[in-house]
Amino acid sequence: MRALLTALLSTLPAVALTTLVLPWTSPAASASEGPAGVWPLDPEPEVVRGFEPPPHPYAAGHRGADLAGAPGQAVRAALPGTVGFAGSIGGKPVVTVLHGGRRTTYEPVAATVERGQAVAAGEVIGRLVLTDSHCFPASCLHWGLIAGRGADEEYLDPLTLVGGGPVRLLPLWRDEPVTVRLPWAPPLDVWRRPVDWLV
Ligand SMILES: [Zn+2]
Repeated sequence: MRALLTALLSTLPAVALTTLVLPWTSPAASASEGPAGVWPLDPEPEVVRGFEPPPHPYAAGHRGADLAGAPGQAVRAALPGTVGFAGSIGGKPVVTVLHGGRRTTYEPVAATVERGQAVAAGEVIGRLVLTDSHCFPASCLHWGLIAGRGADEEYLDPLTLVGGGPVRLLPLWRDEPVTVRLPWAPPLDVWRRPVDWLV
């Protein structure tokens, strides 16, 4: 027993040293674990509201992150992928980009890309629209990350793609998007700020 204990103790410093040194000797491994994506808005936006997964699929929650932005601001793909959807869902302009088994969603965004189009990380996919956002009358991008399809669909925190960020709860945030029909129409190469009549 004593011999065993002595043997264990003598190996302990070596084990401890190995543990300490390992993270420093494999920088490639630690880099690959870092956030892989880019912020959809540039410069890095303020997070108006973070991800709040509902306790069950039919409960209230916030299935994405709201990023403060300006109407007409360029919205970028967070990861390289293929445009899966670019159009209107229930009157709300939405862009979805597919990344293998996951997809990112951007709304309210008037698309400047088409379905099936390949996009690089950081590539502009559309313009932020003022209405139909969680922040109206302020402007924000609702950014979502979804894994799986159909019944296996799971909403994830998109901020994990960019290493998180400070979340500030602003009083302007609301549970349901406010729908105010303003005169905007694609294609957006003739984009004009839709807020002019408000001010
Ligand atoms: Zn939102």
